[in-house]
Amino acid sequence: MLRQYELVDLVKSYDPDADEDALNRAYVFAMKKHGAQLRASGDPYYSHPIEVAGILTKFKLDSASIIAGLLHDTVEDTDTTVEEVRSLFGDQVAQIVDGLTKLAMIEQKSANNKQAENFRKLLLAMSEDIRVLLIKLADRLHNMRTLKYCNPEKRARVARETLDIYAPLAERIGMQEVKSELEEIAFAELHKEAHDSIVARLNFLREQGSNLVPKIISQLEKDMADNGIKATVSGREKTPYSIWRKMQQKNASFEQLSDIMAFRICVDDVATCYQALGVVHSKYHMVPRRFKDYISTPKPNGYKSLHTGVIGPENTRIEIQIRTHEMHEVAEKGVAAHWAYKQGEKAVGRNFRWIRELLEILEQASNPEEFLENTKLEMYNDQVFCFTPKGDLIGLPLNSTPVDFAYAVHSSVGDTCVGAKINGEIRPLRTILQNGDQVEILTSKAQHPSTEWDRFVVTGKAKAAIRKYVRAYKREQFIALGQQVLERTFKGENLEFSEKALVNILQNFEAESIDDIYAKVGEGLVTSWDVLRAVYPGYKQSKLGRVVKSLKPVFKKSDDKKAKKGEPVKIKGLIPGMAVHFAGCCHPLPGDRIVGIVTTGKGVAVHTIDCKVLEKFADEPERWLDIAWGDDALEGMHVGRLKLMLTNEPGSLGELSNLIARHNGNISNLNITNRTVSYFELQVDVEVKDLKHLTDIIAALKASKVVSYVARASQ
Ligand code: MN
Repeated sequence: MLRQYELVDLVKSYDPDADEDALNRAYVFAMKKHGAQLRASGDPYYSHPIEVAGILTKFKLDSASIIAGLLHDTVEDTDTTVEEVRSLFGDQVAQIVDGLTKLAMIEQKSANNKQAENFRKLLLAMSEDIRVLLIKLADRLHNMRTLKYCNPEKRARVARETLDIYAPLAERIGMQEVKSELEEIAFAELHKEAHDSIVARLNFLREQGSNLVPKIISQLEKDMADNGIKATVSGREKTPYSIWRKMQQKNASFEQLSDIMAFRICVDDVATCYQALGVVHSKYHMVPRRFKDYISTPKPNGYKSLHTGVIGPENTRIEIQIRTHEMHEVAEKGVAAHWAYKQGEKAVGRNFRWIRELLEILEQASNPEEFLENTKLEMYNDQVFCFTPKGDLIGLPLNSTPVDFAYAVHSSVGDTCVGAKINGEIRPLRTILQNGDQVEILTSKAQHPSTEWDRFVVTGKAKAAIRKYVRAYKREQFIALGQQVLERTFKGENLEFSEKALVNILQNFEAESIDDIYAKVGEGLVTSWDVLRAVYPGYKQSKLGRVVKSLKPVFKKSDDKKAKKGEPVKIKGLIPGMAVHFAGCCHPLPGDRIVGIVTTGKGVAVHTIDCKVLEKFADEPERWLDIAWGDDALEGMHVGRLKLMLTNEPGSLGELSNLIARHNGNISNLNITNRTVSYFELQVDVEVKDLKHLTDIIAALKASKVVSYVARASQ
């Protein structure tokens, strides 16, 4: 285990300005907090965060990262809070530790690794600060190094997860070294026999005296020196996992694999890379199709190098990589190295720049597909990833709601959703989902899409499904409404109404069916008088005396019974399902006498009988409908609007809301319309059961000494 001063020295070796005091405090804090907790290995738990911090120094990360590494398990595993971390170590460290704690919680939620790709995206999306991801990888690396102490079941699970999720993540952000080590440990765990036999085979070859690596290295060094090239040559056998993968890909046996050795020539600059390549190619035979120039066309993760395959010294097929020292650092340490190189500049806000630089690296990808693949990291900022109760991950656009989630699961789930549980609690359907939320959709066969949903859903699928439903639904309503209006108009004039007559005038209205005509009348695109005059050309409208007559109820009782079960009929006299809304001018409440007005395109508007707006419709009796509150109108809440004048003194608004709450009213909107030294003028919307409820509230308000005027608003 790294001692305190050793860790501090390591950090100071590459970052002389590191916050020594904070590093020391974090080291002690982690030890104290984890106290007597033990690892599976029997080591004290605090050895883990300290080793993780040690790994982070290899990436040459800033002191905030090292401190966060030391503290990464304190919030999750001890009584430490993020606030405590913030007060002791500042905002940055607290934010990183918070991110890591959230990742750990998400990890536990994931039920299976089938959706590894989505899970990787989730991790990327949640790691707003790339340092969160780097610490997570260091954490995983240390856990893998000590995996052997865990029970077999856990070992297999963690190894699988590492191979599926963390090794590819390490590769994606360019951390070759970490990726290889993770893979090797996981491989040994998951495919022990294959691993052991490859290792045994490699040992055998070495013992046979055919350990060619040192011989080839010295030959290549000589080749470079002979041509005046200053270079560092290294060589190695390929790792067991990469050999195994190649065997699988090529369906080959170990013996059939020709190049199990790889060599690397590191030089000072790019021009020398190509010089060294020339030397290699002029001296040794090239293996066709093995040359790749990742310097002129870097890999998406920023990797740069020349690769070639040759029949090299000792007549052996080998792979040679040629690159600069800086390229090498970046290849091994990825973004971390990239950052370490730039760190020399010491500009203000370097940590933010570091993230930008990662994105720049990723954006260097050469073709559009790669570009897309690698700017995903940035694009994930626009997404949230949520779990189904079974642990499947569903990716959605930012600001998605449970309704979007439901439609993403299946159209039928969306169409019938009535509610949602988020992380086990019932939440409104308009709730905005957060990364890692577990969402359970409650459905009911009686439910259908609501126009309300259209106001808050964000996914195209949800919007399309809702609009499709609403269009079909509205047309049905308009047809029914249009038919009613036409019948009334004809009867009002004592004229015969028949569908036959309408067939003859279809083309007058560019209609293909009688339903089309009904729909147009219902929607208000064509008036019933237009239709009447088309059927009876030259007919003159009778006197206004008819208005009174046509206000009589025309709907039969049976209409009410058509209401489907589960669909609240709050208003009698309407065809079930007919589009209806309460007029904003008068806010009708159960208890008020009401009338319906057929509007243009919006179905029926419900007004109180004394509403001033109704005067506008006096000459259009065919648009009036006799309606009344249904027996079940009291089941829901309705909005009543009040006009108030309050004395302008401390607490008067509080007194107002107290009074309303005490009478079981709920303020849904409050608007100060005027304010003077001594008075407020307000408009308050209150959710109430009915007119009596509102009247009671008005009476209570009148009795209050802070209210100098109160009345129901009528306009
Ligand atoms: Mn840990």
